[in-house]
Amino acid sequence: MKVTEFEHPSHPHILMLSCGEPYKCDGCKELGFGSCYHCQDCNYHLHEECAMASESAYHPFFKRCRFIFRDETYGRICDACGKDVMGVSYKCLHDEAHDLHPCCLKLQRTIYGDGGIKLKLSDKVLSKCLKCKSKEISKGLKGWSYVSSCGEFCYHVACVKDLVMEKWRSGYFDGNVDLKNNLALTQIGTSSTSTCPCNEVIERRGGWFGSKAKKFSKIARMVLKLVISAIFGDPTAGLAIVVEALNS
Ligand SMILES: [Zn+2]
Ligand SMILES: [Zn+2]
Ligand SMILES: [Zn+2]
Ligand SMILES: [Zn+2]
Ligand SMILES: [Zn+2]
Repeated sequence: MKVTEFEHPSHPHILMLSCGEPYKCDGCKELGFGSCYHCQDCNYHLHEECAMASESAYHPFFKRCRFIFRDETYGRICDACGKDVMGVSYKCLHDEAHDLHPCCLKLQRTIYGDGGIKLKLSDKVLSKCLKCKSKEISKGLKGWSYVSSCGEFCYHVACVKDLVMEKWRSGYFDGNVDLKNNLALTQIGTSSTSTCPCNEVIERRGGWFGSKAKKFSKIARMVLKLVISAIFGDPTAGLAIVVEALNS
């Protein structure tokens, strides 16, 4: 059974398990959309992974590393998502240490979606990411990806984080998708048509028409949704709209 309220050394008040609006975690400073521990009076949030962190941890991608939970910022980069470590994290004990955000350490290894879709988390990806069209997230840094069993659908954890961060910064998740936001959404929908990953794949394969192309983009959209919910927690209605817009 889940703990629904508890005292956490990082905060003077009782934290309650809640689920609702997207938040920025006060532990690791990363975004979250799913359930979290929350102090309403102070607008203080912790990912479950950050609130319930263990002193040490292991990860199958780093078989020889023992990771220690730390609470300090020290200018490091997460091996999984390639983003800066801005708060609590896990760091291994080796000289050339690996670092992982608590949420990245806990990323699901396998995700199952509708229609038999199965995505695997991998640190050795052989396919190109549908977002950045590259195998690496930056020169010499592979980062982790989710890839479908057929290898056709692949997204870097880093790229999906970027995509969602962009929307977060532009205020999409502030709760009220008003007219102004709706307009912005439409603009993004149209302006990104030419660069939409699915469209490009379809173009590249020139021979694809109608139903096959549609099927590809439908699956790509579903895959993206699955990856977003694996990284950030269950998507809210607002987020689902964004996903639709990005892919339409
Ligand atoms: Zn966190
Ligand atoms: Zn408080
Ligand atoms: Zn290590
Ligand atoms: Zn990370
Ligand atoms: Zn990518």
